[in-house]
Amino acid sequence: LFLDAPLSEGAELPGTPAQAHHLGTVLRRGPGDAVAVFNPRDGEFAARIAALRKDRCAFAVEGRLRDAAPEPDLRLLVAAIKRDALDWVVEKATELGVSVIQPVLTRRSIVDRVNTDRLAAIARGAAEQCERLSVPRVAAALPLHAALDAWDGGSLFVAAERRGAMPLRHAVAGARLPVGWLVGPEGGFETRELDDVVSRPFVTAAALGPRILRAETAAVAGLAVLQALAGD
Ligand code: SAM
Repeated sequence: LFLDAPLSEGAELPGTPAQAHHLGTVLRRGPGDAVAVFNPRDGEFAARIAALRKDRCAFAVEGRLRDAAPEPDLRLLVAAIKRDALDWVVEKATELGVSVIQPVLTRRSIVDRVNTDRLAAIARGAAEQCERLSVPRVAAALPLHAALDAWDGGSLFVAAERRGAMPLRHAVAGARLPVGWLVGPEGGFETRELDDVVSRPFVTAAALGPRILRAETAAVAGLAVLQALAGD
């Protein structure tokens, strides 16, 4: 269970209403049951449920289980796509270890608003499920050009089909961390938009084979390649 408060042996700390619901209603746990609590600063600790009501819970923290460990800085910039697909991408990107999820608004995005709180809750649930100590930051959606202007990482790869782009597995040679993976919307990038993206000095166009993948497939498949090469 992710707890934002400082973790130390002997502390008693509150959880969230969602955690209370999950523990009591979904997992049928009760006071005294063992759980694990974590955050990226303090690592993971054994704990017991000290109190559990419908929408409130608290944990008594016991001994440390795992130290916090540095993770490779792998970022996803994903066009605003349909809600269910974006939810799925956020869950899978969390499992694959991304540090930041940046939704971007592109010319062909059919969605013009992204519920960041909802996506952050999905990321948190996925981090808990996959026993990851950190939770990716879900940034507020930005227009594509603004997200590129704000890029402060190393190499950014844009998922580009049908443009003779080099395969991602080759394009990553010499990449610099933090590495980013940028994926377009259901209808793809407009030609001029993609031209603007690849004109940035830190961007390389990369392909995932000759087939046209759904945006959500491209997001997760590219992250898997980058995680295999740059991750742990
Ligand atoms: N409308 C586009 C078309 O028909 O050519 C397809 C867009 S595709 C469904 C959505 C996004 O997934 C694209 O913008 C691209 O970022 C990514 N994508 C899809 N297939 C890809 C591939 N083979 N290699 C790299 N990226 C791909």
